[in-house]
Amino acid sequence: MTHEPRQLLLNPGPVTLTPRVRAALAREDLCHREPEYAVLHQDVVARLARVYPQAARTHVPILLTGSGTAAVEAMVGSLVPANGKALVLCNGVYGERMVSMLETQHKAVEPLRWGWTERWDVTAVEKALDANRSITHVLGVHHETTTGRLNAVAQVGRVCRARNVAFLLDAVSSFGAEDIQFDEWNLEACAATGNKCLHGVPGIAFVLARRKALEERGSGATCMYLDLHRYWKEAASGQPPFTPAVHVMFALQEALKEFEEEGGQPHRLKQYQALAHQVMQGLASMGITVFLESPDVYSSVLVSYRVPEGVSYATLHDRLKDAGFVIYAGQGQFHGTIFRISTMGDVGSADMERLLSVIGDVLKASPSPSFPTTR
Ligand SMILES: *Cc1c(COP(=O)(O)O)cnc(C)c1O
Repeated sequence: MTHEPRQLLLNPGPVTLTPRVRAALAREDLCHREPEYAVLHQDVVARLARVYPQAARTHVPILLTGSGTAAVEAMVGSLVPANGKALVLCNGVYGERMVSMLETQHKAVEPLRWGWTERWDVTAVEKALDANRSITHVLGVHHETTTGRLNAVAQVGRVCRARNVAFLLDAVSSFGAEDIQFDEWNLEACAATGNKCLHGVPGIAFVLARRKALEERGSGATCMYLDLHRYWKEAASGQPPFTPAVHVMFALQEALKEFEEEGGQPHRLKQYQALAHQVMQGLASMGITVFLESPDVYSSVLVSYRVPEGVSYATLHDRLKDAGFVIYAGQGQFHGTIFRISTMGDVGSADMERLLSVIGDVLKASPSPSFPTTR
């Protein structure tokens, strides 16, 4: 069977699959109560544990069926105790999402908010922690996908470590590509997914949680289906408590094999950086600039750009889609003013070359030239 020309996904997950990962979806049907599933499950757990080798001694991957948000909610619901208090660092959609999770769970939450184009102010975090000693957890987003900013997690992590406050990280759009330091940042857990930087299929997400926290906290979860402690306990027998997305698990196993063969996280970071720079430079030469204050505040995974004058986001999106590229709109307040390009998944330099040439054509065809001469 031959395939149509591929539609390349340049949105921040799900990603364009490799043929090998897609083929894994079509493997034999498997009952999750049979020993063959236990072998698959344990293999995926072992591979996830060594994505960041230093985490393997202290943290355990807990697999869930759901999207990245399920993993974040499992982390928040299972590790922030009912009598705990959370300081949530917010500069975008995903920080706000953790605030609403805590509110839904009726937990004490103190949001520390900045504008969505602003960076975290680490001194403000220190002040908030010193002013409120009852804070048990700091929650933050590693890569805030709203804008593409890589947040100052290393600095905040060190602040948490110095004060012995647990740090919970939404690493959904960074796990597998960006650097993560589990011990140095005092990470009690991070939440992630199989279908962003790991190049799997949507449907499986996971939390890497400190074993000690799971042991000490016990099953104090404020949710039943997403109780991490229960998944962790029952996974020891190789079986999850509920029906997992078995075929998606096959695909994740294959994606992790590919990931390891290619050179793991350091390789993926380099590959993403190269593609992001290629696109950034190409667009800059057409007069399209990055949205945030400077190119170096971005993650390797996604960059936000200003929609050029004289072109609407809808036109840009539709013309690119006709040419086989799916880009991503701005969320919330940024809708229509920015567009986002992620370079995760099975895409390469030649694809980016073609993307740039199509964008060039769209600009040339736009009624008023986007090249600013009168500004
Ligand atoms: C993608 C993403 C999520 C989860 O989104 P889902 O649609 O549930 O997969 C959470 N946090 C961040 C930072 C993300 O980029």
